[in-house]
Amino acid sequence: MKIKSIKGTHDLGPDECKNWRQVENILHNFFEIHGYNEIRTPIIEKSDLFNRVIGDQTDIVNKEMYSWIDHSGDSLALRPELTAPTVRSFIQNSMDKLRKVNKLYYIGPAFRRERPQKGRQRQFHQFGVEAIGSENPEQDAEIIAMSYNVYNMLGVENLSLILNSVGSKQTKAKYSKILKQYLTKYINDLSRVSRERFEKNPLRILDTKIDKEIEIIREAPSILECLDENEKNHFKKVQRYLNKLNIPFKVDKNLVRGLDYYTLTTFEVRTSNLGSQDALCGGGRYNNLVENLGGNSMPAFGFAAGMERLLMALNLDSQENEIKTSVFIISVGEEAILNALKICDSLRNQLGIKVLMDFSRASFKSQMRQANKLNSEYVIILGEEEIERNVGVIKTMSSGEQFEAPLDTIHKHFDVEFNEDK
Ligand code: AMP
Repeated sequence: MKIKSIKGTHDLGPDECKNWRQVENILHNFFEIHGYNEIRTPIIEKSDLFNRVIGDQTDIVNKEMYSWIDHSGDSLALRPELTAPTVRSFIQNSMDKLRKVNKLYYIGPAFRRERPQKGRQRQFHQFGVEAIGSENPEQDAEIIAMSYNVYNMLGVENLSLILNSVGSKQTKAKYSKILKQYLTKYINDLSRVSRERFEKNPLRILDTKIDKEIEIIREAPSILECLDENEKNHFKKVQRYLNKLNIPFKVDKNLVRGLDYYTLTTFEVRTSNLGSQDALCGGGRYNNLVENLGGNSMPAFGFAAGMERLLMALNLDSQENEIKTSVFIISVGEEAILNALKICDSLRNQLGIKVLMDFSRASFKSQMRQANKLNSEYVIILGEEEIERNVGVIKTMSSGEQFEAPLDTIHKHFDVEFNEDK
């Protein structure tokens, strides 16, 4: 029986890898020009990291995290997101000693045991940024603008940016009570999941995707009314800065996001091009997280975005990213193969051009067909007769012109040709 891949995981074939690499390169450059430095953390971590950071009442930790007891007796987990590992590494490596505000970005796989569907996988990839050290609204504005601009720059259409503020831990607690009071009269209309959340984490009910519940929460009291003066001020300034940067946004009082660690600003970027899984990225401020993980008390702001959803929204053509075949070497016979290998080696490694040859010992005609199919700029023909005379034929495919050159001078011809091009 053939062994198949695990449900909810996906192979990236050669064409997809070309598109991914192109997008990854653009992302690396985008983050670098904003002054963010890359961090790569392990895929496995102690489960406790996520229990503590994300909250054990969240679906991610409660139901979706891949965790197991290791032989050592430790509970380990495949990371379901990358903020917690980034902050763990920040603390462990005392990065706060390096500079006052540390700006980091990441790109890598994450794992959640969700019900697979379009735009929702069990192994997926996230990119994101975390700026640790600034409590100021200009930091919020910078990152929110980055998250919007990155999609805009890549050409994703029908974008919308949703913004909210959930206040401090105390504000959230105060609002939870008010929300519970409001929801009490609808308790019998709520789903089983929402009734459970009502007891443990009522703010999560605001994330509901059920139409009937959306109706109910539309009329719910607003968390924005619970913000104190400082919190209101912070939110106002974030909006002022975003307006100045011409970033369009809409405030939605019910955007609380699934993770417990957010304080003050939260936001999401969506596109209507993706159907039901329309969230491209989400993030916000998490002023208590560094301290909760044993670091010094430090404010922070970040976002996490799905790579798969970005690539779905882009719908790229992998052909455009193909490196064109410069030379195809046709070789017939043992000596010709020997020389073809040598010429391939010197053209690739000394000149850095894309050179291919046949490895199936196909006929001359079939090799010429391959060269045509690959749109080769030049063909080098090493037939038995040429090899006997110690020469090769160099043919320019666009014009059909060809000439003979001694075998040991062939690479010199391309040296001139390709260095002149540069
Ligand atoms: P979150 O960490 O839940 O805030 O997710 C941030 C972003 O990651 C989302 O907006 C999605 O683009 C992406 N994402 C989250 N979960 C999945 C998943 N299971 N499959 C694919 N993308 C996901």
